[in-house]
Amino acid sequence: MADLAAPTRLETRRGALRLPVFLPDATRAVVRAVDSLDLRRVGVEALVVNTFHLMRAPGARLVKSAGGVHDFMGWDGPVISDSGGFQVYSLIRQNPAAGTIRANEVIFREPQTGEKVLLTPQKAIQLQFQLGSDVVMCLDDCTSAEDDEAAQAQSVERTVRWAAKCKAEFEKLAASSRAGRPLLFAVVQGGGSERLRRQCAADLTALGFDGYGYGGWPIAPDGSLLADAMELVARSVPAGTPLHALGVGRPDHVVRAARLGYTIFDCALPTRDARHQRLYAFLPGQEHGPFDAERKFYDVVYMLDQKHANDFTPIDPTCDALCCTRYSRAYLRHLFKIEDASALRLATLHNLRFYTRLIEGLRRSGPHPNPLPGGEGIQPRPLGEAAAGG
Ligand SMILES: [Zn+2]
Repeated sequence: MADLAAPTRLETRRGALRLPVFLPDATRAVVRAVDSLDLRRVGVEALVVNTFHLMRAPGARLVKSAGGVHDFMGWDGPVISDSGGFQVYSLIRQNPAAGTIRANEVIFREPQTGEKVLLTPQKAIQLQFQLGSDVVMCLDDCTSAEDDEAAQAQSVERTVRWAAKCKAEFEKLAASSRAGRPLLFAVVQGGGSERLRRQCAADLTALGFDGYGYGGWPIAPDGSLLADAMELVARSVPAGTPLHALGVGRPDHVVRAARLGYTIFDCALPTRDARHQRLYAFLPGQEHGPFDAERKFYDVVYMLDQKHANDFTPIDPTCDALCCTRYSRAYLRHLFKIEDASALRLATLHNLRFYTRLIEGLRRSGPHPNPLPGGEGIQPRPLGEAAAGG
């Protein structure tokens, strides 16, 4: 019988990663305002780096000559790299003159220099090997939720075709890798179409990957999580497979996605919020979980509010990070007001500690089903059905 539980470990060449796990975005080989030792102290176990940004600066070749991204940034834990697709697509969407998306490649022009940057499925994998990533991501064709069904169908066709090319390149490079075999994840696209999501998941599953990511922006215009589409993807990949909820997200969204069977999360939100004076605090008695996505379990404290000016209590009295064990709301507010760099560091570490505690709470409540039993008739298609033309 298939193992219905979501996995609790991901074996990487840099050791086992306990699941679920939250990865801060070290987009340009740094989590802004903090360093690698800081990250360890607040319980961060793995990072996400961005292939597109690193290929632009300082360049994948330079990172490789430093011994890989781990040596470059002094980080010894597992690193997941994204393919770069999402960023380059976002830039081209914002400014269509910035590049072209073709059947087999993405061309981007540097706005300042006009220099051409080419991304192909093979190149996306080569770059991630140069970075020394432990979990490599296939280049996918990202769409917007507003795109029509024909655009989504084209995205699925490309995503699957590119994933096959990525896998072939990955196997070639992994066979000669002296650092051990990284893992390869594929991203399931299909927008809001149930049929396309299932088809994409089935076709990718037939190719076979170490894990799968939910592709596309996971948040609806009203700010809610696209839980139905995420659940559909979770049910459409083999049970027990690691599922990466790319870009998720808000604390209650992480809890919700974990309930659906997702075990890997990364998002810029906690670090970006920290730099914008928004700090998370568990509501009293909620810090150990179990968390309920439908019930409020945390507050966002806006540090510049006047009410904190004379408040000599910590942001969250249950937080064991530097900001809360040593400093008060009044002091952190003062640091923000005078724009001292230490405010960014203390706030970032605080929010990351909130997320590692959130994850600790999720781990305590045990693995969630993957997929959930007793669903509403959504059944994964048999392997190979779509590949056989079904
Ligand atoms: Zn704190």
